[in-house]
Amino acid sequence: MLKITEIFHSLQGEARDAGRPTVFIRLTGCPLRCVYCDSEYAFYGGEWMHIDQIMETTASFQTSYVCVTGGEPLAQKRCHKLLDRLCDAGYQVSLETSGAIDVSQVDERVSRVVDIKTPDSGEVERNLWGNLDVLSSHDQIKFVICSRTDYDWAVAEIRARKLQQKLDILFSPSWGQQDTTELADWVLQDRLKVRLQLQLHKLLWGDVPGK
Ligand code: SF4
Repeated sequence: MLKITEIFHSLQGEARDAGRPTVFIRLTGCPLRCVYCDSEYAFYGGEWMHIDQIMETTASFQTSYVCVTGGEPLAQKRCHKLLDRLCDAGYQVSLETSGAIDVSQVDERVSRVVDIKTPDSGEVERNLWGNLDVLSSHDQIKFVICSRTDYDWAVAEIRARKLQQKLDILFSPSWGQQDTTELADWVLQDRLKVRLQLQLHKLLWGDVPGK
């Protein structure tokens, strides 16, 4: 059984598969409290669901892409079992995780999208830097940028850890906080090998749950 906040069908708004029709399985609970969090409603409540039930609901949407998200999905240990089952069923599975929990045991067929928390997120101390050692080009890391301070910090970490050579890096402006065009200009000026991403689902439907 897993505690589930919602299962819904939408367009993937972020990362490599942005724009693809995807089923989102949002697990309940998160031990972090990022200042920009847009899924606080997933911190509490939810409904216990058996993995068979989750598989059944997922199948009803008839799509091959599944994103397991939260909250922090890995805060529930049985998340690994769900990821295995989804991969076994032939789905292309991605996992959105905070970067504060060990990702080394995640099924290797899953594409891990791992946050690196910046200073202005309020949770920079939670970064589990060892996660970077187990990621591959199949995975992605994401910096949500809230300010110029965050940007400068992210660039310094990327350069010091030589991340551009190893990983697919996403920069995402914090919604309503960091100007997107300004961030784009910084990326170009600094010749960064990162991908600027907009949250497509918010551009299409606004900041509403279940989209
Ligand atoms: S890790 Fe994600 S779900 Fe948890 S508080 Fe931060 S943004 Fe919200």
